Amino acid sequence: MDTNRKALIIVDVQNDFCPGGSLAVAHGDEVITPLNRLAREFLDRNEPVFKTRDWHPEKTKHFADYGGTWPVHCVQGTRGADFHPDLLEDLRETIVSKGIDERADGYSGFDGTNLARLLREEGINEVWVGGLATDYCVKHTVLDALKSGFCVKALADAMRAVNLNPNDGQHAIEEMRAAGAEIVGNEKKAAGARP
Ligand SMILES: [Zn+2]
Repeated sequence: MDTNRKALIIVDVQNDFCPGGSLAVAHGDEVITPLNRLAREFLDRNEPVFKTRDWHPEKTKHFADYGGTWPVHCVQGTRGADFHPDLLEDLRETIVSKGIDERADGYSGFDGTNLARLLREEGINEVWVGGLATDYCVKHTVLDALKSGFCVKALADAMRAVNLNPNDGQHAIEEMRAAGAEIVGNEKKAAGARP
């Protein structure tokens, strides 16, 4: 029996987080190529692939208009909430919608979802995590995966940061590592510090 069963978690590679979107992450679309390659490899090996999506109601405390931090983004059913058109689409993948609760930010793919249960049902003990953005949804998903008892590889080549403050991406990497995640790949890209 394979004692190290892995899953890939692709976090929020949606139009609104990519260039041209309402909350665009600089170079956000660069995560697509490495994530598509990994997704194909995982599916070829019969290992599960999960895609999270930010899936907000029109009115939520997450948005600046209602007391939160962010411009309106990823509202359920809008084009901005669609996955980026270049992201691999495969029926074997499982989509996990999050951020549905209007009283919560819902950064983590584990927050208010059945992701932990689905992973356990699949016998997963290790997750590889990449996507958008390093300093919010990726970080919180990584930290929750660790708290839920999974080993985590954080895919630095396949994440990019918002950097509301210029070092947020770098701090997020350090926080994920300190919590027990293995950081693989180019941390400078993942941190995306402004020049
Ligand atoms: Zn959001």
